[in-house]
Order: sequence, then structure tokens, then C-alpha cells
Amino acid sequence: MCDLHNKVPAIKEIALVGGRLCLDFINTANWIDNEPVDDRLGDYSQVLAWGCRVGLIHLDKARIPACQAPDPGMERLRQFRRHLRQLFVSEQGPEPATLALFNQRLSKTGELAMTSARNRLCFDYRDHDLSWLESPVAYSAAELLISPLKKRVKQCPGTRCGWLFLDNSPNNRRRWCSMATCGNKHKARQFYGRKKAK
Ligand SMILES: [Zn+2]
Repeated sequence: MCDLHNKVPAIKEIALVGGRLCLDFINTANWIDNEPVDDRLGDYSQVLAWGCRVGLIHLDKARIPACQAPDPGMERLRQFRRHLRQLFVSEQGPEPATLALFNQRLSKTGELAMTSARNRLCFDYRDHDLSWLESPVAYSAAELLISPLKKRVKQCPGTRCGWLFLDNSPNNRRRWCSMATCGNKHKARQFYGRKKAK
């Protein structure tokens, strides 16, 4: 493994640098050749922890199980994430199957409901129903995909990264998901490369 992600941050520390909910969801894994690596959504408890982190749901820590057996919904969620990423990175437009799967999620709101927790609103959470996650993420993606801002969605070129982000910089020249990780690693490599060449 390269030095970039030697220390893979856990779901609680993972950076939220995508600029949109859908992009941060895609960035819950790193990507090599459009395949996820270093997946932070390893099990259902991590999905719940991420949902709390981004404010979709509110759960007391005690309600988040430490670890859960594989859940059938997890495989579907990972498939959704892979297809979602395709919608943003595919240069020739998405495969029909990708669009069909996305539309399925978009049209399925399940029993999505809002609730008030600690003086703010979030989505109601029910055991083993991922509507609270899939529906808002699908809406967030749809909104961005039809917006002129779609052109500003970029893929970080960092090794073993592949994160997507919305470039909000005034000159549209943001290159890295984060200067603190991929940007600095690149600078360090350049520096040592120059030193070696001397
Ligand atoms: Zn990166």
C-alpha cells in the first residue's frame, strides 16, 4: 500500500470534504479503477455512525451496536454507492442499468419521516430500513446531476483515493480532496523527488 492512506481514518474521523451529501457518501470508501477499497461502511453499525455524523439521524451512542453481523441491506447499499459514483465519473453517460438502479432509489422513499431530536429535525430511524440514508442521498445526487455545478464535480487524483468533491474555489482550480491528505502527500513526494535528483 502506498503511504497515502496508511492510516485509514475510521468512520468517526473520516473527512467530509465532498461538499454535498451524495459525494461524502461516495467517499465512504477509497476507489481504485472504480472499485471500492478501504471501505468504511463495513457493517451496519458504521452506517448508523455515519448517518449520525452527517446529521441524517440522531441516535444515542448506546443505540449504535458495536458490531453487527452482515446485513443483506449492506450489499445493496454498496451497490447503490458504486452506481452513484458511476453517474458522476462516467464520461459517456451512465449505463442503462446504473440509471435504472438510481431511479429505483430515487422513487422509493419508503416510510421516510422526520422527527425532532435535541431541538433539531432529522430523519426517523427504523431498524434495518435504510430509506433514511438512501433517499436523501439519491435526492442530493439528483439535484447535483441536473445542476450546472455538475461540471465542477472532480475526482481527486491522489493514489488510492478517488474521492469526489465539488470544487467551490473561485478559480475552479482545486485539485485534491484535501490539502491535509492527498495534497500534502503530493507536495512531499515532489520535494523528496527533487532532493533525490540533486
Ligand atoms: Zn484524495
